[in-house]
Amino acid sequence: MRCHKCGKAMKYAKGMTFNKHKVDGWRCICGEEYFNPEQAQLILLLNKLKRQRFKLKLSQVRSNLILRIPKEVGEALNLHKGEEVYFSLDDSGKMKIETCGR
Ligand SMILES: [Zn+2]
Repeated sequence: MRCHKCGKAMKYAKGMTFNKHKVDGWRCICGEEYFNPEQAQLILLLNKLKRQRFKLKLSQVRSNLILRIPKEVGEALNLHKGEEVYFSLDDSGKMKIETCGR
């Protein structure tokens, strides 16, 4: 990868900052940075999802209520069928779902 500003070869670097998230990318000695496009796109998608409030309908299987995670959220968080998540309630009764071991 060559820098479009100065034309020098850029080095692949880890831990660069994009929208307050860590991403990999290419860095030039002139200070120019290119972010890994896949990682940058995922950050933009997560930021978009964070601004949304999803209205979900509960299903029921026998006595259990089933909550369906929207497809775009599952994909952005890389969630898969059979995977375990943590579920908890806070003091005000709000539900929280967290991914395990990430
Ligand atoms: Zn440069």
